[in-house]
Formats: sequence, structure tokens, C-alpha cells
Amino acid sequence: MPELRPPVRPIKGQMLALRMDPAAPLLTHVVWAPGAYLVPRRDGRLLVGATVEEKGYDMSLTAGGMLTLLEAAWRAVPAVEELPIEEMWVGHRPGSRDDAPILGPGPLDGLVYATGHHRNGILLTPVTANAIALQFENDAFSEHRSLATR
Ligand SMILES: Cc1cc2nc3c(=O)[nH]c(=O)nc-3n(C[C@H](O)[C@H](O)[C@H](O)COP(=O)(O)OP(=O)(O)OC[C@H]3O[C@@H](n4cnc5c(N)ncnc54)[C@H](O)[C@@H]3O)c2cc1C
Repeated sequence: MPELRPPVRPIKGQMLALRMDPAAPLLTHVVWAPGAYLVPRRDGRLLVGATVEEKGYDMSLTAGGMLTLLEAAWRAVPAVEELPIEEMWVGHRPGSRDDAPILGPGPLDGLVYATGHHRNGILLTPVTANAIALQFENDAFSEHRSLATR
């Protein structure tokens, strides 16, 4: 039933992983550069992310998306041009209308929303879990207040 779906839309993100030498990694810390971030992993992968696109559920990897990320990464750390590309992928972030997370009762009894975290859902996991747990502890759902129309 569409009216029971959380009020979020997909925000497309393209990313890629480069392969560093784990014995002599090009980077050992995160770099936030204009247009891209670079995240080195212990296994030698270097993640480069991410585009932010209003394209619905489009799953295509595009030349423009990869070009944007690689150019931004290369401007910050020129030596990335030597690294092999290991993987490229697309994901979708749940975005709310005001870009703020949606935490609380849905339109059905017992349905609880914890969504709309856009680019920061992983980062905000502990805060989100805490907020929802506190709402249960304080019995905030006994008086039904739906966030479905937000
Ligand atoms: C490219 C990219 C880079 C990102 N980088 C970061 C980052 O660096 N830091 C950060 O904090 N966040 C990042 N995010 C955002 C983060 O991934 C999201 O905010 C987070 O995953 C949202 O969590 P969620 O549980 O609400 O949704 P999701 O993680 O999307 O989980 C929803 C789950 O529901 C399942 N599902 C969907 N429909 C149904 C159905 N009908 N029945 C059953 N199951 C269903 C899906 O398969 C999925 O497993 C990134 C996202 C993308 C796409």
C-alpha cells in the first residue's frame, strides 16, 4: 500500500574502489577533497565517493559520475592515477523532504520509522538506535502520531 511507505525518495550515489598496495598504501587516513572523499581500507582498497544524484531508482554507472569522482580524487592525490580500478557501484540513500531523519511512529500501529538519513545513515546509527530505544522506553507510541505526511 503506497500510503504506508515512508515519505522518502531514493538519492543515487556512485562510488568506486581502487586497489592500493597493502604493504605500502598510498593513503592511511581519510581525505575530504572538493567533490570527493577518499577512504583507505586495511585490505588495500581505496574507496572514492560519492556522487549525489536525483535520478530515482536509476542503477546505471555513468562515465560522467566516474569522471567526476576520479578527477576530484586525482586533484587531491595525483598518484591515484596509477592505481587499478577494482570495483564501481551504485547505491541509493533514503532522502526526506527536509533532509532530516524521520524517527517515530508510522501510519500503522507498531510500525516505526527510522529512515531518511540521506548521506549519514551509517554515521548516525548509534544516535538513531538510541532515539528509537528512548521513544519505546518512554512509551511515545501509545498515543499514535504518524509521521507519514511529513
Ligand atoms: C554511495 C553511498 C555512499 C554512502 N556513504 C555513507 C557514508 O560514508 N557514511 C554514512 O553514514 N552513510 C553513507 N551512506 C548513506 C547510508 O548508506 C544510508 O543513510 C543508510 O544505508 C540508510 O539506512 P536505512 O537502513 O534507512 O536504508 P538501507 O541501508 O537502504 O536499508 C534498507 C533495507 O531494506 C531492504 N528493503 C527494501 N525494500 C524492501 C522490501 N520491500 N522488503 C524487505 N526489505 C526491503 C533493502 O534491501 C535494504 O537492505 C551512503 C550511501 C550511498 C548510496
